[in-house]
Amino acid sequence: MAEETLFSKIIRREIPADILYQDELVTAFRDIAPQAPTHILIIPNHLIPTTNDVKASDELALGRMMTVAAKLAAEEGIAEDGYRLIMNCNKYGGQEVYHIHLHLVGGKPLGRMIG
Ligand code: 5GP
Repeated sequence: MAEETLFSKIIRREIPADILYQDELVTAFRDIAPQAPTHILIIPNHLIPTTNDVKASDELALGRMMTVAAKLAAEEGIAEDGYRLIMNCNKYGGQEVYHIHLHLVGGKPLGRMIG
């Protein structure tokens, strides 16, 4: 059984966070240390520690994370100029919190990361 992280406490509203969206599958809140004018984390409500642990039964929540990302990008006014969606995995990927999360980062030119 994987151990809960502080993100589970944010989902249950036991610790404060700037929650922008929540439904039965996912929660979205502003990153505490934003790397850009918009930096939002979108997470499944149930614990999936890393992208290595994703199962077919997670597909609904993972799909919802994408539609919520698109909705929030529009609400933040960053959709037209563009933004970046990032999921880090394990040590080499730079993952710090072991509850998967989609970073929605935008509001400034981000430069090229790959390619
Ligand atoms: P990772 O490096 O795991 O992909 O990203 C973890 C992210 O969680 C970081 O961008 C970090 O700033 C954010 N974070 C860590 N602790 C908290 C917290 O208590 N509240 C919020 N809102 N974000 C957090």
